[in-house]
Amino acid sequence: MRVVSFRQNGKTDWGIVSEDRIRVAGDGYPATVLQLLEQDAPMDILSRLQADPDATSVPLNEAELLAPIPRPRKNVICLGLNYAEHARESLQTKGLAVEMPEHPVVFTKSTTTITGPYADIPLRSQVTRELDWEAELAVVIGRGGRDIPEAEALQHVFGYMVLNDLTARDLQRRHKQFFLGKSLDDSCPMGPWIVTADEVPDPQNLNVRCWVNGVLKQDGHTSQQIFPVARTIALLSQIMTLEPGDIISTGTPEGVGFARQPPEFLSAGDVVECEISGIGLISNSIVAV
Ligand code: MG
Repeated sequence: MRVVSFRQNGKTDWGIVSEDRIRVAGDGYPATVLQLLEQDAPMDILSRLQADPDATSVPLNEAELLAPIPRPRKNVICLGLNYAEHARESLQTKGLAVEMPEHPVVFTKSTTTITGPYADIPLRSQVTRELDWEAELAVVIGRGGRDIPEAEALQHVFGYMVLNDLTARDLQRRHKQFFLGKSLDDSCPMGPWIVTADEVPDPQNLNVRCWVNGVLKQDGHTSQQIFPVARTIALLSQIMTLEPGDIISTGTPEGVGFARQPPEFLSAGDVVECEISGIGLISNSIVAV
């Protein structure tokens, strides 16, 4: 199933996509997707909504889709250098030794980065002149836990989304630590929906692509991840409790702008599209503010 949060006529709701309409979760359902995930059996609630003869529906193309979880409990948890070829291009460009990480590189993006799958991305040129793209597979945690065994980790996944980990490379460089360069407001579009995990039998068998103004820039595959989804969940949960609605973005393949010769960055008017096979496509315009 595809779970969406959306706004229509000034009201925010959630629902499930059924063909070209959204079945709206109204009275009698959890108020938000985050509250849905806090229930014992969210998939049963989705099945009830799908079969509910009283559910109203709205045309998908008349609703403004929002990030499926507009405000999770935690920052978005992100892996860096999780694809070998991207690790190589990044380290080479920075003049560093090319060594694959033995342990995942983990940073976060502030919750205020989260924005919709088709939202405009503000570019404040006084803050950054090096805005870059990173198409990624994002995981949404369903059932929380700590010390989750790798063999059981995928049972804790509620579903998957497309995410663009937009990054200000100049801020990332200037402030050393990743947080500021990764935390520009509205620099984390995601969605367009959460595809529930039952429809993604193998998260390590997905194409990850990014286009800028229609030109293919990234063309990776999740089989190339150094730390697969299950191992990542197991490792993270040894350190912190994972909670329903936590979002883990699993890193980007090669083809980012700063590692190109010459380097390329996003400008006002550019359109960035990120797509994951079997999940969907997000498309965002860069707008000067
Ligand atoms: Mg990234």
